[in-house]
Amino acid sequence: MTRRTKILIRPGVCLLFLMVSLSPADEIVLIHQTTGERLAGLNAIRAGGYDFISLADFAQTLDLPYTQNTLLKTFQIKSRKTIHILALNPFIRVDEEIRQMPVSVLYLNGRFYAPVLFLLPCIQDALPFPLAYHPERQEMAVSTYHAQVQGLTIEDKQNGVLIRLRLSESVPLSNIYTSESNGWFYVDVYAGEIENAAALQIEGKSSIVTQTMKVQLSKDTARFGFRLNRTIKEKNIRLQEQPFEIIISLRTLEQVPANLLAELTREREKWKIDLVIIDPGHGGKDPGTIGVSGYYEKHLTLAIAKELKAELERQLKIKVLLTRDADVFVPLQERTQFANRKNGKLFISLHVDSNPNKNLHGHTVYFMGPAKTDEARRVAQYENSVIEYEDSKKKYAGLSDAAFILAANASNSFNKESQDFADLVDKQLSHLPRAHSIGVRQAGFYVLYGASMPNLLIETGFASNRQDEKRLKDKATQRAIAKAITQGVREFKERYEMVN
Ligand SMILES: [Zn+2]
Repeated sequence: MTRRTKILIRPGVCLLFLMVSLSPADEIVLIHQTTGERLAGLNAIRAGGYDFISLADFAQTLDLPYTQNTLLKTFQIKSRKTIHILALNPFIRVDEEIRQMPVSVLYLNGRFYAPVLFLLPCIQDALPFPLAYHPERQEMAVSTYHAQVQGLTIEDKQNGVLIRLRLSESVPLSNIYTSESNGWFYVDVYAGEIENAAALQIEGKSSIVTQTMKVQLSKDTARFGFRLNRTIKEKNIRLQEQPFEIIISLRTLEQVPANLLAELTREREKWKIDLVIIDPGHGGKDPGTIGVSGYYEKHLTLAIAKELKAELERQLKIKVLLTRDADVFVPLQERTQFANRKNGKLFISLHVDSNPNKNLHGHTVYFMGPAKTDEARRVAQYENSVIEYEDSKKKYAGLSDAAFILAANASNSFNKESQDFADLVDKQLSHLPRAHSIGVRQAGFYVLYGASMPNLLIETGFASNRQDEKRLKDKATQRAIAKAITQGVREFKERYEMVN
């Protein structure tokens, strides 16, 4: 966005050709508007019927920072805005705005002189105080405020706070500036010497403004500070006369209600991954799949589970419980019930795959959901078939179809998280030497049904594949798998645990 450039040309005033007739003794007197007190004499010259004031004197006397370049013949005053003045030129740039005086700035003996009558209206908004020129008396009057603080009222409103600062004298709105820093809201009154800081006592109670302060920043600026315990969303300032009041309304962000805070704490607790439930598949009378060289899935899953427990505890200092730590039979439903009862934060069910195609190898990470492929459905059906060993098969009656998935998904509010968790674990397992990822899949597993935590089922490899079976019974591979899953848990924990 470009700034609008405005050229102000006063109608009816022609550019004058000036006959410079110097009157070196001339000076313009700076007086105080209210008291009439003489403050200073400023070097000036008279030319073409106008008074030209020395810009250096002007800036120095009024304590305005300035720079001049006698080579480029430029003069710059930095105040509320930056004023750029060029010798022998009627144009003045105030920030990005070009303004025009009817006569040019003079340059004599290395000094800049500006026609004071035209200069002041051109730069008034860039100055911190009002200045008026009285040509008949060759006087420049400066107005400053000597206000007294008469009171401060702070009222909490529905969605913010209302601050009323009562002063003994009025100050134009253009002289009031606000800023925010480190929880403080500041109101700066330019051209104001404001006395009686002791009077800055809050009338009324506020739970939002916790502290106030008043400081005279310079002889021209008084600062009022308000410390807020909330974030300001919107501010509005207006003035009121008789009595003069600066009225500041601050809309603040709503404070989090206590019940929501409690809810957030509960939510944080929910995601604090401090207990992982590992479920070694099968066990006891249920051997699971039987490998090419006769290894039982139930033994491999328990061995990996024990490695995983050790890694999680050692690396992440997480408490770990196993649904079984011996060769015993545990019904599928009891495994998730155990996890829920213990308030586990993650549920990892470990298994070993099998397929009539002996060439199939690699790992698959499953999360609960409707099977998208026949293979996923086949694996779920196999793992679910364990219920044949269970005494009370009717627990699952009618659940082995779409209704089961629907019920499972409805009861499992951690579907998205489970999928994320599955992705992270799959990525880590894929990094293992000679790894082959079949991918992340979803299927309906009874063992995951009803788990009230992110959960997944890992088919760590194929017992039906000679190489996979050999690797899976190898202690080093079991540990490598455990480490990879641990890394997945670490990443999931970093992603989901809420920090304060
Ligand atoms: Zn299994």
